Amino acid sequence: MSRIAVVTGGTRGIGEAISLKLKEKGRFVVANYGGNDAAAKEFSERTGIPVRKWDVGNHEACIESCAAIEAEFGSIDIMVNNAGITRDATMVKMTFEQWDEVIRVDLTGCFNMAKAVFTGMRERKWGRIVNIGSVNGQGGQIGQVNYAAAKSGIHGFTKSLAMEGARHGVTANAIAPGYIGTEMLSTIPENVMEKIVAQIPVGRLGNADEIARGVEFLTSENAGFITGSTLSINGGQHMY
Ligand code: NDP
Repeated sequence: MSRIAVVTGGTRGIGEAISLKLKEKGRFVVANYGGNDAAAKEFSERTGIPVRKWDVGNHEACIESCAAIEAEFGSIDIMVNNAGITRDATMVKMTFEQWDEVIRVDLTGCFNMAKAVFTGMRERKWGRIVNIGSVNGQGGQIGQVNYAAAKSGIHGFTKSLAMEGARHGVTANAIAPGYIGTEMLSTIPENVMEKIVAQIPVGRLGNADEIARGVEFLTSENAGFITGSTLSINGGQHMY
């Protein structure tokens, strides 16, 4: 029987690549998204992957949506917390709303989704949770105190969750991507982008499939002894 996977933000960008990779490797995938109905419809028609819309920052919506998915398709074995947003501004200019929105979606979203599935995974003695962090959560970044705090929080969250799942067959790991060529980068000015690429030892941006391969491995049957780790996939940009 196929393992059932939910990928948040699974219809575009890195999430799309993760959904496709997990499907290709035999998992049954349900892709969540937040608001872009047209992209989700196109994705679902093209791939045959069912899509479900809810806001990962909304606790009740996460609990109810996961319960509905389990009633329709079966127990969720794999949770990939990929949904994320940026609201960049320097500290001087950042508003409370920009801070709050990013923490709510990027960090609280991971809590909400793990909360919805963790007890069931422990009871069934098998589960895989992968949270998508960021190189900027590891190293910080100008203009991103909100995003870096959320992503850094993901790494601590993952380690603690891993400890609580370890004796129950549930692993929790994080992936910290470097700069990956998706729409998320479209707000970064070209001259800034050139400077960023110059700091990446392999000399290029990553692509979404390179993150998806990491997720596929960490959610596989073979990865049961890997938990509480952070897999950096960043072209050598950050090595500690
Ligand atoms: P995109 O902006 O391309 O896609 C984001 C996805 O998240 C979309 O599917 C979007 O849904 C969904 N989403 C956003 N907000 C919510 C919400 N409140 N509830 C549910 N879904 C939501 O981002 P990327 O693919 O580039 O990024 C994916 C993850 O990787 C993020 O966590 C990001 O922080 C992280 N990351 C990305 C890097 C990069 O260089 N691109 C680098 C490091 C980390 P919708 O389509 O409806 O808008």
